[in-house]
Amino acid sequence: MRRPGQRHIVQQALCLGVLLGLSAHPLLPGTRTKCVVLVTGDGIRWQEVFRGADPNLLHSDDHGMKEAAEVRQKFGGSSREERRERLMPFLWTVVARQGVIVGDRDRNQIVRLQNRYRFSYPGYSELLTGRPQDDVVNSNANRPNPSETVLEIVRRELRLPRDKVAVFASWEVFHGIAAHSPGSIFVNAGYDALDSPPTPRSRELSQAQFQLLTPWRSVRHDYITFELAMEHLRSKLPRLLYVALGETDDWAHQDRYDRYLEALHYFDHCLERLWKTLQSLPAYRGQTTLLIATDHGRGDNPSTWPRHGEKVPEAAFVWLAALGPDTPPGEPITTPIELTASDLAPTLLELLGMDSRRLLPQATGRPVELILRRRKTHSQDAR
Ligand SMILES: [Zn+2]
Repeated sequence: MRRPGQRHIVQQALCLGVLLGLSAHPLLPGTRTKCVVLVTGDGIRWQEVFRGADPNLLHSDDHGMKEAAEVRQKFGGSSREERRERLMPFLWTVVARQGVIVGDRDRNQIVRLQNRYRFSYPGYSELLTGRPQDDVVNSNANRPNPSETVLEIVRRELRLPRDKVAVFASWEVFHGIAAHSPGSIFVNAGYDALDSPPTPRSRELSQAQFQLLTPWRSVRHDYITFELAMEHLRSKLPRLLYVALGETDDWAHQDRYDRYLEALHYFDHCLERLWKTLQSLPAYRGQTTLLIATDHGRGDNPSTWPRHGEKVPEAAFVWLAALGPDTPPGEPITTPIELTASDLAPTLLELLGMDSRRLLPQATGRPVELILRRRKTHSQDAR
């Protein structure tokens, strides 16, 4: 794949890797990304991401909005641009301008799930394996993923210590989703004490999660998940960190639009803190890509918005965003575009300089050119 003239670049990358104490595995030429941080928010609709808070729900007396004048005030606005920027200021003022965000159905941008189920495990599995597996991934039961995930592939290929590929998730089922071989990567998910907290704050958060309970047995607070992930980031410097936040979906199922919006606003705040922290640390600055996604959409009107699944066709529409050194700053996308959730895993591998066709031979997704535009991807049919 590699041209002869590029050999010296490989050698330089290898030397730099050794100097930085990274794995001696040579990086393929063409990308500047050495680390990836993936963040997902469960069941975040493209409608809120691109249009902001839905006025029909926001100005209703139902959906938890009766006593939520403050939420109405905070996230209301006269245009979709104004509303979305109030709801997700970091996404719209930084990610959209310096990176890429795609999935605006009002502008003919489609990002679709390939799996038929449109609920969480199949959605995350599709993101992490590059394909739907409808015959075997068809429930939310906490079982190991039937296929190796991109997280496991990265650890194996880069020969990384276990802590260097880490998952922090609010939902306990990530113990199953994230890995085909339990224990192959670091996973802390749901109400889950840390065995050896790396910092005093980690120890405190690990204890506090059992005292600050959510209404749900299998989902802890996103705050705990995010703060634990930040402690791990600063103390262990992972090459691949996955932060899976979940409260958006749980509040939506309870038809609490007020709390859903607040959880979504918090999700945006987490992205901002993550990005600022990454840019403040020499191990990450200028060589880290942030990937942002969701596992499924939801219904598209005030009565169906709490739901998703096989009976809710609109839940198949999702969105993707990226910010990092290999992603060209977002010129507005003017031509119709069609991507799938399966594209995320091959894109992640190619960002790290790996050959996605070799490592994910069964993937139905392709590396996303919009996110990787500075280089030729390994796959000629990239999209
Ligand atoms: Zn979900």
